[in-house]
Amino acid sequence: MPQDIYDRIMMVAKRRGFIYPSFEIYGGIAGFYDYGPLGSQLKNNLENLWRRFFVLHDKCVEISTPTITLYEVLAASGHVEEFTDLTVDCLKCQRSYKVEDIIDKGLSVEQAMNEDNIRCPTCHASLHDAHPVNLMFSTSIGAGDGRKAFLRPETAQGIFTNFHLLYQFNRKKLPFGVVQIGRGYRNEISPRQGTIRQREFSMAEAEIFFDPQDKTHPLFPTVQDKELFLFDNINELKMSVADAVKKKVINNQALAYYMYLTQEFLLQAGVNPKKFRFRKHAADELAHYATECWDAELHSERFGWVECVGIADRSAYDLNAHIVSSSVDMYALRPFDEPKEITTKKIIPKMNVLGPRFGSTAGKIKEQLETLHPSTAKKITVTVDGEPLEIPKECYDIVDVTEKQSGEKFVPHVIEPSFGIDRILYFVLEHNFVEDKKKEEEYTVLRLTPKMAPIKAGVFPLISNEQLIRLARDIDDTIRKHGIETYYDESGTIGRRYARMDEIGTPFCVTVDHDSLSDHRVTVRDRDTTKQERINIDDVASLLKTKLSL
Ligand code: AMP
Repeated sequence: MPQDIYDRIMMVAKRRGFIYPSFEIYGGIAGFYDYGPLGSQLKNNLENLWRRFFVLHDKCVEISTPTITLYEVLAASGHVEEFTDLTVDCLKCQRSYKVEDIIDKGLSVEQAMNEDNIRCPTCHASLHDAHPVNLMFSTSIGAGDGRKAFLRPETAQGIFTNFHLLYQFNRKKLPFGVVQIGRGYRNEISPRQGTIRQREFSMAEAEIFFDPQDKTHPLFPTVQDKELFLFDNINELKMSVADAVKKKVINNQALAYYMYLTQEFLLQAGVNPKKFRFRKHAADELAHYATECWDAELHSERFGWVECVGIADRSAYDLNAHIVSSSVDMYALRPFDEPKEITTKKIIPKMNVLGPRFGSTAGKIKEQLETLHPSTAKKITVTVDGEPLEIPKECYDIVDVTEKQSGEKFVPHVIEPSFGIDRILYFVLEHNFVEDKKKEEEYTVLRLTPKMAPIKAGVFPLISNEQLIRLARDIDDTIRKHGIETYYDESGTIGRRYARMDEIGTPFCVTVDHDSLSDHRVTVRDRDTTKQERINIDDVASLLKTKLSL
């Protein structure tokens, strides 16, 4: 008999085509999972609901960038140096552990290591010499001594490295948001939390670029009276979005607005509001890029409170880092009321030196040098045909230039809601997994919201009769032509067929019986109330559309 809710969910998930452990025929490996036919559909539904919030409603734009990322990008962003977990190796049984996972709760990592009393959870040997281990998977591009690269640990850098182009796309106005949904990779030290901690997983990230002098959001007034579920590491607080900002519990309007949007998305996806909260990061747990961070945490019967979304104020950290490292102009312009005379330092390329030295590429180098901002350029590097090229000092002058300017340059700040799709998907399953212990057989109902359900309607002939089968198949085709996913089933008792649909979260079933042949009506059964109503066959598709709010 399976042990706990996680095991029972994973058993149903495997049997019914939601989630399979990857590479199982070769013994599998921790941290990798496949989505089966229903799991893939559920994931699509979850991602599409997310798009409704962030793209349709909040008007962010979506982009898609490579998952293999150049070393330079992740060196600039700080991931090469900082994206590490403190790890300790057991010299006796050769296992490695993330220190955080094996120390007593309430003890800081430093305290635990100083007290020198951590023991191996497997063989109980004493553990020493904790050291940081980088979590990125490294690779190289091209044969031989190719360019160094990593599988990206987050999708965000693909957005930051395009900021100047996206700013132009947005007609040089702030604020604006850019999103990306895709894979992230983290070589977790020793993942033991099933689908909660994977080594390749899906993220949905939004990077919202702001003028730091104006961290407001045009839609803030529409959410200011709504309630947020907050936890400040001591107390659970329920307060309005406006109060949270006024009392400085949340630092600015924009952050508070995106927290509410996140809360609303999670609740619409089917998360239980009683098992949801936002927890504020203490200063010592902030990521290397964040100035303020709130985690949307969901509660699991097995895992306790788990971070599923991180909403961070990344300030100007990333764009600044890329400006310094790439020397590309990634500033935004704050317009003046009237143009002003301003003196700034400019790079003036010397073509008489560049020409002889760089030949046919001198023109391209000149163009790039003219767009660079000298104050950040300790060492000037340009990129020609994808290759970095260092430009020596004698190739340019830096001079004061007085020009009439229409605004002042600044580095935008970023607020980032970062969602772990797989974790949210697991919680949608756990929070909606209802076991009926009264029934003799094991009976589970997955109370997925209609938007999340992979199959929206089961269609059955009551008995295996040729006329009923023909009519049921016709109805099934008609419903599918309306864009509604169905599952046609004629095998087993009708009770068994309802049970199969309940188990995979199908909200409605349509049954054709003998009377249907004469009265042109069918029975529509509701999963949650188990109530049945007789409906005219011609109205079935439109009724389902209304019930499903499609
Ligand atoms: P982070 O950038 O660490 O704040 O991660 C953003 C989100 O990605 C988290 O809130 C999680 O939902 C998700 N996430 C992070 N690491 C993992 C992992 N190893 N497996 C699955 N999801 C993860």
